[in-house]
Amino acid sequence: MAETDRFEKESLSFVCEKCGECCRHIEAFVGSLPYQENGVCGYLKGDLCSIYEKRPDFCDFKRAYGYFKDSMTEAEYLEKTRCFCELLKCLKKKRT
Ligand code: SF4
Ligand code: SF4
Repeated sequence: MAETDRFEKESLSFVCEKCGECCRHIEAFVGSLPYQENGVCGYLKGDLCSIYEKRPDFCDFKRAYGYFKDSMTEAEYLEKTRCFCELLKCLKKKRT
């Protein structure tokens, strides 16, 4: 199977629970942005993105891989993304 085919297939298996936690820590993966306060994205409303259809590349799981494709394989990217997501969800559970 071609690498791209595998990526498409695996990326479809990534389940986002829409907890919004990655949008509360955007400094961890993009640094400082003008529309954030204390790491929380100003476009986050409740747990959801208010500009979802027009969200930046770094917020889109598939498009964001373009920034990492020279430094890691698609499989590594998927694994790191899943780990990061699990860590954030754990942090949220500890807080609530
Ligand atoms: S932390 Fe994970 S489950 Fe929560 S919104 Fe982000 S990708 Fe989805
Ligand atoms: S633009 Fe939307 S998806 Fe991206 S960090 Fe902000 S709230 Fe989250």
